[in-house]
Amino acid sequence: MELYKENQLKIYNSLTKSKEDFKPITEGYVGMYVCGPTVYSNAHLGNVRTFMFFDVVYRYLLHLGYKVRYVRNITDAGHLENDADEGEDRISKKARLEQIEPMEVVQMYTVDFHNVLKNYNFLPPSIEPTATGHIVEQIEMIKEIIEKGFAYEVNGSVYFDVLEYNKSSNYGILSGRKVEDLIHNTRALDGQSDKKNPQDFALWKKADDRHIMRWPSPWSDGFPGWHLECSVMSTKYLGESFDIHGGGMDLKFPHHECEIAQSQTCSGVKPVNYWMHTNMLLLNSQKMAKSTGNFILPNEILSGNNTILSKAFSASVVRFFNMQANYRSILDFSGEALEASEKGHSKLMEAVHFLPKIAAGKTSTFDVKNWKKDCYDAMNDDFNTPILISHLFEAVKVINQIKEQKASLTAEDLSELTTTMHAFVFDVLGLMNETTQDNSGKITGVVELLIKLRKEARENKDWALSDQIRDELIALGIQLKDGKEGTTFSIN
Ligand SMILES: [Zn+2]
Repeated sequence: MELYKENQLKIYNSLTKSKEDFKPITEGYVGMYVCGPTVYSNAHLGNVRTFMFFDVVYRYLLHLGYKVRYVRNITDAGHLENDADEGEDRISKKARLEQIEPMEVVQMYTVDFHNVLKNYNFLPPSIEPTATGHIVEQIEMIKEIIEKGFAYEVNGSVYFDVLEYNKSSNYGILSGRKVEDLIHNTRALDGQSDKKNPQDFALWKKADDRHIMRWPSPWSDGFPGWHLECSVMSTKYLGESFDIHGGGMDLKFPHHECEIAQSQTCSGVKPVNYWMHTNMLLLNSQKMAKSTGNFILPNEILSGNNTILSKAFSASVVRFFNMQANYRSILDFSGEALEASEKGHSKLMEAVHFLPKIAAGKTSTFDVKNWKKDCYDAMNDDFNTPILISHLFEAVKVINQIKEQKASLTAEDLSELTTTMHAFVFDVLGLMNETTQDNSGKITGVVELLIKLRKEARENKDWALSDQIRDELIALGIQLKDGKEGTTFSIN
């Protein structure tokens, strides 16, 4: 029997602001959409937190036996500098500044994004669609919204008519914002806007002469509005109504509010049953910002090549650290907190590695069945990973007591505890086996040879080669750590 039949998952739904029993539209199947990155710069640690949480959601749903279609898009056009449909397209701007093609920008940062996710042991989504790959579908959706009377064209651009929509629906249903307040609070943008009302948002924008990324449409040579792609791609791959939609809480408004308005206008039905939003990430108790130097890239944590942390941390430790906080709480990222997590992480791993060495006893001094239920209950309670981890540490305590011959488990209990620990630690939380003992001596030999060659390169001041060796090893999940005693390495 599939595990989901005996585990009633509850999800905190941002739409209703309450925890609800999760009931998928089709029994046994889950459709999940998560807003992906805009690929105009390196993967951002705050976004990585969001995607890491949804990776754990995906992993747990799979663990429960659901067939999951997980769609996470790549925004490669249409995302302007600000959310009020003004400013340059972020990717076009980067391309102009770097004097390269927009698609080179897209490729560079899509590769970087995938590289980060691979290093941090993410499962790839089922489908990773791009905005530029769905221009035709986006134009079709705009036509439909115009036909239904909820959008208008002005000077080659098309805008969604929020006031018209709000007559029969509720614009603000997700974010709690009121249209009347939006009217008063939205700045009229120096009179240049073509919008009937300032709270309207763009479905299609006419490209001005310097705008490189443009496509023909019935209205103008232009490009789609940012919110549209998610409505189009979620509907295309998951249907008019689907189960879970996720993203960072900064996307609630306007992005997700606009998605609901667009999708509902076309289908006439509620597009998403469960909205999930992750809270923000701080770095040393402050907002992360490149301009202030309070900034770190996900891969810089692994290489130790940064000014924020005093040492490198493994990807598994960073995952563990993330999962020690509830996704709906603010997470404060700091070297001190990571060091504490590193200690906890190695205690957990040591215990997991000791499991096969345990000999079964005649009796059990620990209620494994009850403990296992606690672990599932924690995850069933809106994916409460910190509570799950606290239960995993109850097992760690028992394993350590067995080591000291102060506790025992029967063969059956030992096997159940081992299976459950492995399922939660590796399959659900996605932590990685970091002991080098399990890797063959050959890998160690090869890495040590590369360390030696890198040392020679550095002595010859061949920095390019030495960096290449280090970076390519990171890409393989092997981190070098330079210390007083020479260079050591760890394998994820
Ligand atoms: Zn989106």
